[in-house]
Amino acid sequence: MTDTLAQTDDALAPLDFAVTRNLAAKSPSERAQLLENPGFGTVFTDHMVDVCWSVKGGWHRPRVQPYGPISLDPAAAVLHYGQEIFEGIKAYRHADGGVYTFRPEQNAQRLQRSARRLALPELPTEYFLQSLRELIAVDGDWVPSGEDQTLYLRPFMFAKEAFLGVRPAQKVAYYLIASPAGSYFKGGIQPVKIWLSERYQRAAKGGTGAAKTGGNYAASLLPQAEAYENGCDQVVFLDADGNIEELGGMNILFVMKDGTIVTPASETILDGITRNSLLQLARDRGLAVEQRPVSLSEWREGVASGDITEVFACGTAAVITPIGALKAAGFEDAQPIGELALSLREELTDIQYGRREDKHGWLHRLDA
Ligand SMILES: *Cc1c(COP(=O)(O)O)cnc(C)c1O
Repeated sequence: MTDTLAQTDDALAPLDFAVTRNLAAKSPSERAQLLENPGFGTVFTDHMVDVCWSVKGGWHRPRVQPYGPISLDPAAAVLHYGQEIFEGIKAYRHADGGVYTFRPEQNAQRLQRSARRLALPELPTEYFLQSLRELIAVDGDWVPSGEDQTLYLRPFMFAKEAFLGVRPAQKVAYYLIASPAGSYFKGGIQPVKIWLSERYQRAAKGGTGAAKTGGNYAASLLPQAEAYENGCDQVVFLDADGNIEELGGMNILFVMKDGTIVTPASETILDGITRNSLLQLARDRGLAVEQRPVSLSEWREGVASGDITEVFACGTAAVITPIGALKAAGFEDAQPIGELALSLREELTDIQYGRREDKHGWLHRLDA
C-alpha cells in the first residue's frame, strides 16, 4: 500500500505564493554554526509560510515571508478558547543531497481530522504539501546533513478572529515554521522512566484526544511536572476505563514473548504515523500486530511473568524510546529491554534517510 492523495484534492489549482525574502537571513557561516548543535525547538529558519482563511474568502493570501513575530488582536479567539491544531513532520537530507519528507499525506489528513474536531477549516492535502515545498524552496539549506539530524517542520492553524463570543472563528491562519533538530538522544539512546498518572487524564471519550491540539498538551503539563517530581522523564496516561492510553506526546507499544506487537486501541489516542509505520514494518517481518485495549494489570503481570519482553514509545520527534521503568505512587516495575525497538528504529530511520529501499512509497521529495 502506498500513500495517496485524497481524491477530492486532485483538481485543486495550486496556491500562488508571494515570496518576500528575509533581508536579515543568516549568512552561510552563521547557519553552519547553528546547525552544528541545534538541539530541539529553539533555532528557527529564516522564513515561514502563512495562509489566511475566512468564511467569505476561503484559503487566500498565501505567503512566504521572513520568520518573525505574529501580530494578533488581543481578542483573537485562540488566546481565549484555544481553537488551535498542529502537526509535526521532518525533512531529511539524503546522501544525494535531495530533501525528502516522510508520509506527508498522512500528516495532511490528520490535520484535516484535527480541524474537523476543533471546528477549524480543512486545509486541502495539496495546499499542505505545497506549503512544505515552498518553505524548503527558500530554506532548503537549513536541512542539516549530520547524522540523525533533520529539519523539524511545524505546521499549525489557529483562530485569529477578534471576537469574544463562543463559536467557531470566521478568520483563521495557517502557518508553517521550521526548526533544525539534532539527535534527540545525546550520547546514545537511553531507556526512559515513565510515571503512571493515576490522578489526571489527558483525554476523555468524545473529547479531543485524537486531535493534535494544544489543549491536550496544556492538560498534560501538570502530570508531566508530577512525573519530574517523582524522578521520571515522561507520563503515561490511562483512559477512563483504566486502560493504557499513551504518553503525553508519544504512542506506546508492547512486544510479547512470541514477537506479537500490541498497541492500545482507543478513540482517545492520537493516531501516530510513526506507530502505524512501525506496525507495518513489523507485519513485513511476519510479526503479528494487535490494536486492542491493554489494561494496567495486563502490563504489570505480563512483565512479571515474562510474557511482555519489551515496551517502547514512539513519535516523530524522538522516533523510538525504550521504556526502562514504570513508576506509580505504589510501585516501581523495571521493564525488560529487548532488541526489537532498536532494530525497528534503525529500519525506519534507514528508510527516512534513504539508506534502505522505500518499499511502501513513503518518501516524498520536497526540493524538486
Ligand atoms: C504527535 C503525537 C504522537 C505521535 O504521532 P506521530 O505521527 O508518530 O508523530 C503521539 N501522541 C500524541 C499525543 C501526539 O500529539
